[in-house]
Amino acid sequence: MKNTSKNTLDRIFSEYIRRRDANKDGYIRCISCGKLVHWKQSDCGHYINRKHNATRYDEQNCNAQCRKCNRFDEGNIQGYRRGLIKKIGLKATDLLEIKKHNKCKMGQFEINLLAEEYRKKLKEIRKR
Ligand SMILES: [Zn+2]
Repeated sequence: MKNTSKNTLDRIFSEYIRRRDANKDGYIRCISCGKLVHWKQSDCGHYINRKHNATRYDEQNCNAQCRKCNRFDEGNIQGYRRGLIKKIGLKATDLLEIKKHNKCKMGQFEINLLAEEYRKKLKEIRKR
């Protein structure tokens, strides 16, 4: 298996999350502010900061977000929390706060494994 860089994995994972959250016309509703934007103009926003490896590629922790919230409003974290509770519930949201403290090794092996999984999922979701 060829090695995948973390940047490439981020790119694959981000496309998967944004396509997952898009409606049939290709629009996502920003998790933080509710604005509708095309998935290609959106970001994959992390609820728990992406410096935490344990939740960095967690599908519940990552949701499509408008670029304004993600890049200029520090993730609009209050709005994000409200949106996430609406989407996955209070318990699952709070569990992410606990999960972020888990030790999680993110070496080349783990990156390759995740990349393989999300390449597959991306292929499936692109067919929709
Ligand atoms: Zn927004």
